[in-house]
Order: sequence, then C-alpha cells, then structure tokens
Amino acid sequence: MDLSLNSYLLFWISVIGLCFGSFYNVVILRSLSNESIVFPASKCPQCGNKLKVWHNIPVFSYLFLRGKCAFCKKRISIQYPIIELITMFLFAFSFVKFGISYKTLLSIVLSSGLLIMTMTDLKSKLVDCNIAIGLAVVGFFYNWLVMSTPLDSFLGVLLGIVIFEVLAWSGYLFTKSRAFGEADTYVAAALGACFGVKGLLWVLVYTLVSAMIVIVPMFLYSQYKKNNKLTCVLFLMFLLSVLVFKFYFENFVTLAILAILGFVLAIDVLKKLKTEPSPTYLPLVPSFMLGALYYLFF
Ligand SMILES: [Zn+2]
Repeated sequence: MDLSLNSYLLFWISVIGLCFGSFYNVVILRSLSNESIVFPASKCPQCGNKLKVWHNIPVFSYLFLRGKCAFCKKRISIQYPIIELITMFLFAFSFVKFGISYKTLLSIVLSSGLLIMTMTDLKSKLVDCNIAIGLAVVGFFYNWLVMSTPLDSFLGVLLGIVIFEVLAWSGYLFTKSRAFGEADTYVAAALGACFGVKGLLWVLVYTLVSAMIVIVPMFLYSQYKKNNKLTCVLFLMFLLSVLVFKFYFENFVTLAILAILGFVLAIDVLKKLKTEPSPTYLPLVPSFMLGALYYLFF
C-alpha cells in the first residue's frame, strides 16, 4: 500500500479512536452509576449543566477549557483526556501492527473492552461481566470464521474458567472467601476465546509478570509504611542474590544463598499476609490488560 494512503488511514483511525475514547469515558462513568449509556445528554458531573457540542470535543475541549467546566469552573478529571489518548493510541497501534485486516478489528475491540473493565476496576473494583462475555463471543467468531480454529477457541474458554475457578476456590484454604472475584474468571475466559489454549497460557505468563511489577512495589511500600523494615531488607537481599546469581557467579553456593533468602522472605511475607486485616487488593484486570496487549502486539 502506498505511503500517503496509509498515513491518511492512520490519521482517520486516530480521530475515530479519540471519539470512541470519549464514548468510553461515558461508558465508564455510567456503568458505575447505572445510568443509560445513550440518554441523557452529557452533563457536568459537578453542576449538572448540559454540555454544548464544542465542550465535548475529545482532548481539545479539555485543553481549551483549561481542564475546567465552562459553567461552574470546577476541575474536570484528567481521566477524560487520558482515556481518549489511550484509546487513540490503541486504535492507531492496532492499525500500524495489523494493517487492513480482521485482526485489527479484533485488536481494537479487545483492547477497548479491556480498557473499560480496567478503568471501572481501578476506580471502584467493579467489572461489568457483560463486556467480558461480549469479548468472548467476538473472540470465538474471529477464531471460527477468520482463523478456522473454533475448537482451540472453545478449549481456551474452558481452560480460562478452570484455571481461575481453581485459583479462586483455593482462597478457601487460607481465608474464608474466594481468592478473587468472578469477574477475573470471565476475563480469563474471554482471553481464552480470543487467543486459544497456547495463546492464553502466554497471556497468563505476561499477566503474572505485570501483576508482580505492580504488586511487589505496592506491598513493599505498605510494609515500609508499617515499619516492617525486615521485609524490605529481606526483599532487597533476595533481589541482590538473584542478580549476583544471574550475572556473576552461577554456581551451587550462590544458588543455595538465593534459595535460603527466598524461603525466609516467603515465610516472612506469608506471616505478614496472615495478620493483614483485609486481603490485599489484586489489580488483576489491569494486569490482564497489560498481559493481553503485550502478547497481542509483541
Ligand atoms: Zn460544571
């Protein structure tokens, strides 16, 4: 395809992405307040005045209103332009990566659904399972009609459900509740439908990695604030021993030191987790999103 047509399409896909991002803001806001998505017209959440058309232009309105409502001058959340820009980026990157294809459509639909669920999860720990079910249906039809692998997609759904229900029920071994909510099972099933069995397993590996990147610093920070310096010191020593093993002395002694430190750290962390009053919040849906997008794009 020639370059000018490509950049022309990229421009319009970005514009469409911005508009969809604006719509997703409404979906995120209203799925948390149970309002209809289409009606009523957009209004300022603070003063209730109906917005004019030119107050509703993605990103640009935020900039030229300087982040304040035109009527009551209260601050508009930075979430609006950020969601719009992220959506634009996801649309544009899907097109750059997969060109004019069904995969681009799948990528756009999947990343949109994950973005909306991630935002409602981060804001109020609520996830609309209907979005995950919708993604599962789209993923299944994509694998059936485009890839001719309906069985793989179906098995992916089953695998996602089994893995996450087993993990969730294992929570009863330690506490008297599920380890995490039903929504995570729905999302895992949707990813299984989109990526099939092998794809799902890779996505779960990336999900675990991104969860660790988020959870470990969060946990250490909370331990630091609670004056549990020992955990932090143990963790840093463990990290150091991993680095030494990996890059300097890959031998039995360093491996033994690494294992002992890891064991002591694990016991210390488990002891601390038992005394936590409330179970630590696991940002699982955001991690799913990062894992799935990493697998999809790279
Ligand atoms: Zn207002």
